[in-house]
Order: sequence, then C-alpha cells, then structure tokens
Amino acid sequence: MRIGSYAAGWTLPVLLAVLGCKEDATAPEVPEPAAITIVSGDNQIQGRGRDLHEPVVVRAVDAAATPMAGVTLSFLPGPGSGSVSAGSAVTDSIGEASVIWKLGETVGAQQLTVMSAAGSAQATVTATARQSDFDIQIVFAATLTPEQEDAVRAGVERWTQVIVNDLPDISFPQGYAPDNHCSGLRGLTIAPGGVVDDVRLTIDVSESERRRVYGGLCDWRIETREPFLVNIVLTSSLLNTLDAGALSGLVAHQTGHLLGFGWRWSRLLRNRVREFGDGADTHFPHALTVAAFDDAGGSEYDEGGKVPVENYEYPQLADYHWRGDVFQDELMSAWNHRWANPGWKPTSNNPPLSAITVQAMAALGYEIDLSKADAFTVPVPGAAAPASPRDPRSASRHATLKMNPVEIFDDSGNLVSIIYK
Ligand SMILES: [Zn+2]
Repeated sequence: MRIGSYAAGWTLPVLLAVLGCKEDATAPEVPEPAAITIVSGDNQIQGRGRDLHEPVVVRAVDAAATPMAGVTLSFLPGPGSGSVSAGSAVTDSIGEASVIWKLGETVGAQQLTVMSAAGSAQATVTATARQSDFDIQIVFAATLTPEQEDAVRAGVERWTQVIVNDLPDISFPQGYAPDNHCSGLRGLTIAPGGVVDDVRLTIDVSESERRRVYGGLCDWRIETREPFLVNIVLTSSLLNTLDAGALSGLVAHQTGHLLGFGWRWSRLLRNRVREFGDGADTHFPHALTVAAFDDAGGSEYDEGGKVPVENYEYPQLADYHWRGDVFQDELMSAWNHRWANPGWKPTSNNPPLSAITVQAMAALGYEIDLSKADAFTVPVPGAAAPASPRDPRSASRHATLKMNPVEIFDDSGNLVSIIYK
C-alpha cells in the first residue's frame, strides 16, 4: 500500500515534465540546485534484498537554502546496493523527491547516490543490509531526533541479528485499529491491505512522569504466541538524559521482553516466585540454555537450579529476568532494570546479549544465530561487593516498587501477564 502510494506520487510529475518538454521546447531550464539534503530515510537497516520500510526523501535547495521545485534528480544505487523504484524523480512544490530503495544482496553498508542533472549537487544515503530474515519495522514518534532514532535502531538490531527466521506475514485486508490497552497508538494503525512482516514496533514519547518507560504488547500470532504489534513508551525526561549507548541498551532490553523474554516463560520455569514467593529457587531448565550457561562459566554455579532466574520482586523483576546477582550486567539481567530508578545513571552502555539469552529465545520457538551473540562470562560468585551500587537490592528493587504494572491481555481481553512496574 505504502509503496504504491509513493509510486503514484512521483510518476505524475515525471510524466508532466516529459510532456512539458515536448510541447514547449523554449521552456526555461530549471537551474542546478546548490545542494541536495536528505529529509528522511537515511541509516535504515533491513534484510538483504528487501525494500526499506521508509522511502528515501531528499530536498533540492538553492544557494539560499530555499527549496527548489521541478528539479530532476537521479537516484543511483552503488555497486551491490540494489535498486530503486525510479532512477530519477522531479522535486515537488516543497522541493522534495522520494523513491523506495530495495537493498542488494550484500550484507553490510550499502549506498545510494542522489545527483542533480549536471552532477554539481550530490548526497549519499546509507543503509545497512543484514543477513537475518527476521525484521522489526520501527515507527518513530515525530519528536525523536535522528541521533535518537539511530540509537533505537541499534538496540532493536541486536535482536534482528540473533533471531533469524522470517515469520509468516500478517495481512490486514480491512486494516487494523489498535484497541484495549493499545488504543490511540497511531503508529500501530494499519491501512486496509497492509502487511506486518515480521514485527511492527512503535517508539512513543510521553510527557507523563507516571511511568518512565514501559512496553506494551498489542497483538500476537495466535498459534505460536509470537508478537507482531508492540510498542515502547519513554518519558521525554528519561529520553533526554540518555546518551546513545544507554538508549540503545534500554531499547534492547525492552525489545527482548516484547519478543517474549520473561512473559512467555510460564511453563518453562521452575519454582516461580509468583507461586513460591520471594527467595524461591526460580530457574529456567531448558537444556540448551543450561548448556550455554555452563559454557559461559556457569558450570561453577552451585547455588541452585540452572539457569537461575530473578527471585525477588514479582512482578517487576522476578520470573522475568535472569537473576541479577548471578548475571549482573547481562542485557536481560534484573540489574538492567535500573533505568526504572529515577536516580539511575547508566554504567554500562551496551550490556552483552549472551548466548544464554539467545538460547532462551530459541526455547520460545525462534530460529537463532548463536554466532551473533555477544561474548559473556558468568561473573565469579561474590565478585561484586554487597554494598556495591550495582547491587540490585539497593539499586533497582526498591526503586521499582513505586512504579505501576503494565498488563498484557490476550485477544479475548483477559489479563495474561504483567511485565513491568
Ligand atoms: Zn526487564
């Protein structure tokens, strides 16, 4: 749908320009633009050989930076950089032209050069092609800066590297309007005929201080329980205190939950805190995940069942994270919930996404690429002093008590889980 509407948008001006030339050979030539600026669509990440989700939009401007209408621009993919929906396009009344860029098969950076007729003005748009066929389409709130968008992409991309399978497309012949706890999320509204492949994630910014960050699960594939419509909301005050690395890490942690880490574990867990209370020996006994834990140094662990899961503070931490005291700074450790603390300052910008976590996602049914997991060693027990500010009991547990839970509903409106406070 979206591609079709953009195609219609540039075809007509091109036709008019061609006709105009034939009928009036003395029409004044449009001067060369002084520069071409990239309006949007730069730095996207997508599976190799696929269309980027957002069109590439550029603007032609004169020496006074005034937009220039009627300028023909060429769009030239670099070697191995795929193809575009049109090799040239004419700028509209606000000086903008756009194309859809389909990436080539080369994994890594790809380039698209945009050039004026005489070549005096140029811009280079960059995209990254990934090997994996698993894709998360991100829909950003308008208030995010380009730097914040890049940081969010980097966080989400950590999951699209380690989860590799293309899930069945979800088609919406009649369109989709989010309801229940997701009503009002415009980024999740889908036009009739729209398709989600594989997950659509909105990033929203809230002015409310009631919850600093929360994730919402709006819909999932019925048979496999794999989510496909999800959102992350951050308060603007939190967003503006995070540097790029911290924002990336926070988004990566949240995205892990939204893909199922924690909330889809019910039958995979033993000794759940929700049944046995604080201090239970909660653990995740999935064989391949235990093997990954042992490989990372966990073979020395002798304090209970493997793999140890957080066992204090249900529901904001317990049953949903690796045990903080054991995993410490791993991406899905309870310790990485410290952003819930209003006084939190990031100490580790890119906590490792370990093979243990990747195997836990395989236990949920995802196909994985272990080679993309980050290096991680289970810290030696007792290595962190009890009074360390990293101790979750002082750093995050008490702080989260004031937060409110985010409830997850199934498609019948039944509360099935609570993922955060
Ligand atoms: Zn968490």
